[in-house]
Amino acid sequence: AASRLGFKTVIFEPGGDCPASHVANYHHKADYDDEAALKAFAQAADVITYEFENIPTSALDIVEAITPVRPGRTALRVSQDRLTEKAFLADLGLAVAPYAAVDDEIDLTEAVAEIGTPAILKTRRFGYDGKGQARLKGPEDIAQAFADMNGAPAILEGFVKFDYEVSVIGARGLNGDFASFTPGENVHKDGILDTTTVPSRLSVQAMHEAQGMAARILEKLDYVGVMGVELFVTKQGLVVNEIAPRVHNSGHWTQNGCAIDQFEQHIRAVAGWPLGDGTHHTNVVMTNLIGDDVSKVPDLAQDSANAIHLYGKSEVKAGRKMGHVNRVTGPAG
Ligand code: ATP
Ligand code: MG
Ligand code: MG
Repeated sequence: AASRLGFKTVIFEPGGDCPASHVANYHHKADYDDEAALKAFAQAADVITYEFENIPTSALDIVEAITPVRPGRTALRVSQDRLTEKAFLADLGLAVAPYAAVDDEIDLTEAVAEIGTPAILKTRRFGYDGKGQARLKGPEDIAQAFADMNGAPAILEGFVKFDYEVSVIGARGLNGDFASFTPGENVHKDGILDTTTVPSRLSVQAMHEAQGMAARILEKLDYVGVMGVELFVTKQGLVVNEIAPRVHNSGHWTQNGCAIDQFEQHIRAVAGWPLGDGTHHTNVVMTNLIGDDVSKVPDLAQDSANAIHLYGKSEVKAGRKMGHVNRVTGPAG
């Protein structure tokens, strides 16, 4: 997105083969503890952003001393750890699942007694696509769930009885302006996002409420950039599941549903440009292509309503997100 807007881009990436590196002007392939490489990278850039929230604090200290990092450190600190994140959201007065910190099996036994079952035990850090999670149907699952954490600090969450899930892709500009895309309805399969459908089933009132919750989160974090806010829709109202300080998989539909998609929106925000308004012109169903799903691409391409996006990842692996297809389903109502 930055390249398309005419910016020169510098990528810092330990792996060395990220899709963005194929279009970047400069590419630093180095580890997060390579101080010289981090400094050279930061010196080459006017502004730094990221698409992965688990960047080590030590690396951020080095680059941030040279060049502004957007979104800022607070958002990263809060969202790197599910416990900090839940406390932050609860402090804002937003509804979250009942939760408790779990460091050992005694904590887990106490947390289950307090919160009840069904419940989900999650590692506090590094989890994504449902990895690092164990579900507890009853107290008999305590030992196995605890073992599944491999000793990592965890958090127990009560299972929220939701009707469906939605997410708000919000953005906040350098001047504090807020914009939000139309909330999408998400369906997960095996803990991985399967589809996002726009529009969702939310009433207009609930939609505004969801967008207002996102606005409060971004405001409180003095956020600059795009953020994904995942919500459960329950009979008692909206419950925040988690936040992601970056463009979000459930916002990929914007590539074909909006004049300005989430990727351009993010670059606009971090570059200090005005934000796009987020209105969608076309209804979309986004479906992830996971692992072997990529073999369906020739068939999917037969249908001209399917906009296909592949990430150029070299190796197909089970559970790996290889691309997505945005099916346009008609003009927005
Ligand atoms: P992501 O890839 O979205 O970052 P993740 O690994 O961080 O995923 P979560 O979003 O916490 O995982 O959970 C994945 C899915 O599992 C949720 O979208 C929801 O469907 C279900 N889930 C997680 N926590 C709860 C909960 N407390 N109650 C009910 N369902 C839950
Ligand atoms: Mg997550
Ligand atoms: Mg999630």
